[in-house]
Amino acid sequence: MFVAKTYSMPEKKDNMQITVPHRMSRKSQVQTVVPTNHRWQTDTRAVNDTEEQAIIRSQNFSLHYGSKVGVKNITMDIYPHSVTAIIGPSGCGKSTFLRSINRMNDLIPHVHTEGRLEVVGQNIYDKRTNLVNLRQEVGMVFQRPNPFPKSIFDNAAYGPHLQGIRRKDELQYIVEQSLRAAALWDEVKDDLKKSALALSGGQQQRLCIARALATKPRVLLMDEPCSALDPIATGRIEDLMGQLQSTYTIVIVTHNMQQAARVSERAAFFCLGELIEYDRTSKIFSNPGKKGTEDYVTGRFG
Ligand code: ADP
Ligand code: MG
Repeated sequence: MFVAKTYSMPEKKDNMQITVPHRMSRKSQVQTVVPTNHRWQTDTRAVNDTEEQAIIRSQNFSLHYGSKVGVKNITMDIYPHSVTAIIGPSGCGKSTFLRSINRMNDLIPHVHTEGRLEVVGQNIYDKRTNLVNLRQEVGMVFQRPNPFPKSIFDNAAYGPHLQGIRRKDELQYIVEQSLRAAALWDEVKDDLKKSALALSGGQQQRLCIARALATKPRVLLMDEPCSALDPIATGRIEDLMGQLQSTYTIVIVTHNMQQAARVSERAAFFCLGELIEYDRTSKIFSNPGKKGTEDYVTGRFG
């Protein structure tokens, strides 16, 4: 698991831009991403009527910053080829949980975890986990676009270069495919040597998505990816999520209820570090099972 992938030059393919309409039935598009010989336990702790197996399984997962709770006893399954939104008031553990999925919290001192967090059947908190490979499998996009002060090309080629890919034609191919997948290629194809910092905020965020996609992750984590963007750039990122979900598993933290309703298939409501409710987004917004969820989604608190 998490073995570094090698790239081979593909046979002639025009592009990998995905044109699947948002939320079309995924039955026909499903790729196998979970080992078929893996037998999951039979209890379902999240709504799943698609016969798909979870790609991320959190089992009584807790994270503390020293004595402070980040998240407590989170048990939830996240399904592939869909967008899962994490919603909830500020400080309730949304980012903590998201960062836990690729162990970004490891960089923070005094962090300690309990329980299990599996990605594709592997407990990622196992000592043997290779963090570089994990973060290539589970890419992350942050609140503020954070391109490196390098060219557009070098940003998109960063991950593959780290993976040891040196052939120029191979890197060029990956850069083009990643920029196409992030719906940025047409805007930058003549300026690949230009500094990434010269791009607009929305373009920088799409470049960060391209940079994450370049290592061919299975999972894309997005922590309030539109909160620094204007409505037009936000719309483009939301459209992009709709396109990417047929290939990737997207987990997005958002404090924007409309955005969660627009982009996600399932939504998890967090409060004070705990998972209060997790269900189909339509149910969370129209008929939540818990009073706390209802109060939050109707704007009564938060
Ligand atoms: P959210 O993303 O929902 O706003 P966070 O996951 O950032 O919430 O924070 C959850 C809790 O963990 C908060 O009480 C916050 O103060 C605390 N926390 C977050 N990051 C750190 C950190 N680096 N060090 C200490 N405490 C932190
Ligand atoms: Mg946060």
